[in-house]
Amino acid sequence: MLKTFLDIHATESVFYNMQIAQMIRMHWADVVAQEIVDSCDHPLIATGISPTGIIHVGSLREAITGESVRSAVAAKGKEVRLIYLIDSFDPLRKRYDFLPKEFEKYVGMPISRIPCPCGKHRNYAHHFVQPFLDAVGSLEVNCEVIWTHDLYAKGMFTECIDKAFTKRDQVIQILHEVTGKDANPDYAPYNPVCEHCGRFAKPIFETYSFPTVEYECQCGWHGLCDIRTGEGKLTWRLEWPAKWMIFGTSAEPFGKDHAAAGGSYDSGKRIVSEIYGGKAPIPIPYEFVQLKGVGQMHKSLGCSVTGLDAINMTPPEVLNYLFLRVQPSRSIDYDSGMGILDLADEYDRMEQKYFAKSFTESEENLIDAYVIAQHNHVPEKLPLQVPYRHLVSIVQMANNYKEVLEILARNIDFSGATDDELKRLWRRCECVRYWLNGFAPDNVKFSVMNTLPDTLDLSMNEKVFFQALVRRMNDCNWTADEINGIVADIAKESPLGTKGAYKSLYKIFIGKSVGPRLGFFLSSMDQKFVINRLVQASV
Ligand SMILES: [Zn+2]
Ligand SMILES: [Zn+2]
Repeated sequence: MLKTFLDIHATESVFYNMQIAQMIRMHWADVVAQEIVDSCDHPLIATGISPTGIIHVGSLREAITGESVRSAVAAKGKEVRLIYLIDSFDPLRKRYDFLPKEFEKYVGMPISRIPCPCGKHRNYAHHFVQPFLDAVGSLEVNCEVIWTHDLYAKGMFTECIDKAFTKRDQVIQILHEVTGKDANPDYAPYNPVCEHCGRFAKPIFETYSFPTVEYECQCGWHGLCDIRTGEGKLTWRLEWPAKWMIFGTSAEPFGKDHAAAGGSYDSGKRIVSEIYGGKAPIPIPYEFVQLKGVGQMHKSLGCSVTGLDAINMTPPEVLNYLFLRVQPSRSIDYDSGMGILDLADEYDRMEQKYFAKSFTESEENLIDAYVIAQHNHVPEKLPLQVPYRHLVSIVQMANNYKEVLEILARNIDFSGATDDELKRLWRRCECVRYWLNGFAPDNVKFSVMNTLPDTLDLSMNEKVFFQALVRRMNDCNWTADEINGIVADIAKESPLGTKGAYKSLYKIFIGKSVGPRLGFFLSSMDQKFVINRLVQASV
């Protein structure tokens, strides 16, 4: 049954691998890494991004998948490179809604030659990809960033461009056979950049003689292009396999659209061997990432959560884990609502189980995902953990990070914390803050009222309940457990009932009827402050 996978499709090896992974209980990244180690002397993993517009969460999946395989190969003792190719020489295909009107004139030009929309970056490509690259650093993706327009300028594509022209008939035949579409005798494997208007133009094939080709542009210009000088570009189906040649790519993750039968991986595989004389990388096709949750829409971008948002609101170790906990062939929901909290909790739980060496067979894969998410820097012992949901509350109670630490210090001893632990805590607080500002559902948001509002209407039962609390809280250990116990005891005796008692307490502290976990919430505040508030509310 496994064999049949090998026969049906270009991306078979990965599906085959994934089946093996399931059978022998190995993480998929380790299975792919083993195949790379077995088949490549100088492993190189390529990932990439097209910075024509918004950078999607799916691009993160690609970067993290690439890094995970890189670190899995490195863990097997093999030297390995991960490159991050930026398609900076692609044309701007249309004026997107988020671009100013005057950008209409740049449509059809390479994005490395279009000015940046904000005026602060070197060009259009930098504008969209630089913030993402800066942020990817926090995920500890160890890659070399390579700009495609630089490769063209350095003449790295020259040999492949020459072959694309001289074997153009063969290219047309391959594309016809792979895609099943009619052969197109006019197919241009390469487009010169018009020296007059700066747009990609059509070559006149019969004039090709290394190293030049004549071209005709829509603007009416007739010119001569030297293929060695970065004044033109291979089309996607020829450019991708040309990159495999330039770098000797061993493996590459890519979106499932490229992996479809007749898609660009299938054609690339034939072009690299039959036209360029090389070998296709091991494919790692991945499914798309679907967005869930109710974030604010970025109106100008036409999308609710960008890749940059995801980096800013998900702790890096948790984001790594998200993309490793399922196989690349499975789709992933990125839930920018409460899902982030569930995911962070699951990560912390797996971390505990890993260090306790206590997990079920069905959790093995999640434990492996936790380990691989560390990129070969697994901590030596269980790191300091502060429940993520607590951070969500504390960040809202504190005015700054210093206060966050002061509040936490009431319940946690930080004296032995390492730099890495403190860094992780700080980073998690930053993520929580970003999430609260743009994505968190309203029901988790609150702020502690500095004073008790005069307008608050409190019943006699509530006042009696508060008085009873004051008596017990005056001399108790100020811990979440003890406070919970006291509240439960007194609520039992009160006509308010437990539910009503909780409601009354939230009302006098945050002006809402629901709030964070009560014992933890009250214990995180100063004991005197809490008792004063109860006294005020009981008169
Ligand atoms: Zn800019
Ligand atoms: Zn032109």
